[in-house]
Amino acid sequence: MDTKGKLIVISGPSGCGKGTIVDKLLQQDGSLQLSISATTRMPRGTEENGVNYFFKSEEEFEQMIRDQAFLEYADVFGKYYGTPKEYVLGKLKQGKNVILEIDVQGAMQVIKNYPEAVTIFILPPSEEVLLGRLKGRGTETEEQIMKRFGKAKAEMEYAQQYGYRVVNDDLDTAVAEVKNIIDHAS
Ligand code: ADP
Ligand code: 5GP
Repeated sequence: MDTKGKLIVISGPSGCGKGTIVDKLLQQDGSLQLSISATTRMPRGTEENGVNYFFKSEEEFEQMIRDQAFLEYADVFGKYYGTPKEYVLGKLKQGKNVILEIDVQGAMQVIKNYPEAVTIFILPPSEEVLLGRLKGRGTETEEQIMKRFGKAKAEMEYAQQYGYRVVNDDLDTAVAEVKNIIDHAS
């Protein structure tokens, strides 16, 4: 890949705290850019189009697949999620480090197509803590929480395929570890 910036992939089971970690990283380091994904899931809470996600209809998303507009995409919990290719490659060319907060299926596509990507898997301290965080966030129904929790074990089996693994027990420690990985990975 003829680029200067680092492509950074962050994954982990729903509720492990990756969104919280990424928010803190972005506050600390102005040179980091977060890729905004497209999705066919509905916005939740205060989420806004173009800020948290680009919210798309299934037809729009499938057209983008046909147009090869995605760096990677996957079906997660029955909805499409994908990384817009042009935006990310453009930022990398400008020398910016770009974070993709994506699921394990998408990350495997990135590892295959961009092997120089810095890949980080966030782990919860335990399954009990993970369930507690999912419930505590209060943004999903009980059924959605159990679906996400049920998928966590299978997702955690992918952790070994990532370049780095970070346990999110104390938040500030986890953020510092991720920052250190990003700064020192070549
Ligand atoms: P994800 O993006 O991985 O689905 P979130 O970032 O939404 O997870 O975190 C899930 C919940 O856990 C949120 O309510 C968040 O405030 C909380 N949380 C995240 N990291 C920690 C931590 N280190 N200790 C305690 N609670 C945390
Ligand atoms: P949520 O619905 O909680 O925002 O996200 C659900 C899952 O989809 C998370 O694991 C998140 O990392 C993943 N995800 C978000 N955007 C993308 C994307 O562009 N591609 C892929 N493959 N997964 C994504």
